[in-house]
Amino acid sequence: MMKDEIVIAEALDGQIRIHAACTTALVEQARIHHHCMPTSAAALGRTLTVTAIMASDLKGENEKVTAMFNGHGPAGTVLAQADAKGNVKGFIGDPNLYLVREDGHLAVGQAIGTDGNLTVSRDMGLKEPFTGVSKIQSGEVGDDFAYYFAISEQTPSVVGVGVLVSPDGTIKASGGLIYQLLPNATEEAISFCENVAATQKPVSELIDSGLSLDEIIHTYFSDANILDRRNIQWHCECSKERFAASLMTLKDSEIEEMINDEKGAECVCQYCNTAYQFTSEDLKEILKQKHVENREC
Ligand SMILES: [Zn+2]
Repeated sequence: MMKDEIVIAEALDGQIRIHAACTTALVEQARIHHHCMPTSAAALGRTLTVTAIMASDLKGENEKVTAMFNGHGPAGTVLAQADAKGNVKGFIGDPNLYLVREDGHLAVGQAIGTDGNLTVSRDMGLKEPFTGVSKIQSGEVGDDFAYYFAISEQTPSVVGVGVLVSPDGTIKASGGLIYQLLPNATEEAISFCENVAATQKPVSELIDSGLSLDEIIHTYFSDANILDRRNIQWHCECSKERFAASLMTLKDSEIEEMINDEKGAECVCQYCNTAYQFTSEDLKEILKQKHVENREC
């Protein structure tokens, strides 16, 4: 299997910027962590893929990109977050969807819905993140990000993104190909991109056929220069210590109540669905620590 990676390139003397991504392994991890059925896996996987590509342009260590679909479809909220180190995580409101269109493709647009917005936040480590909002077009994810890039970031873009799911429900291939016209683009470059968009095969099928990302780029942009490559991976930084710290923000009476009912507490990470168990003994320790920390203040 091809390793997960993003390749960044330019073509037509720097008039077109290209990002190609293979995300098969990380989308498979997302599917496993959230127990996703195929349509949910595809909706989440496509969103994770474009978000990972957007984050590959980040420069600072602590910068991150968050993309969120709220389309009022059965999927509920679909959210992905990626950072400058290539760590990608996310979740979907309903992971149990298996909706299929009449043509046999997974009905991602129907799952996400079109009554709402795509919100993208670029957190550059400043006080306020830069947030852009655009109306969801089809809910198919690629179209919606293309519209977002055009409206919110004034960058005409073609966004191809796809997830192939095997009959056994595992992820067979996943990836994305985004090409964007830079401000110096001529009419010739514009029509070149339109022509590529009209003839391009789905990127997940290209990855599944065994082509490398460089080969995929050169198939459509024969003069492309490869500029950079980035590793990407499914990763959530949550830990039992982090949840213990958030339990410490509860009132004493709430912690005491959990200690007294002797069932302990379970905290589940929204991003990666990992469950952390806290016994009554753990909770007593948290209560004790809480008072130590208060005294130190
Ligand atoms: Zn987590």
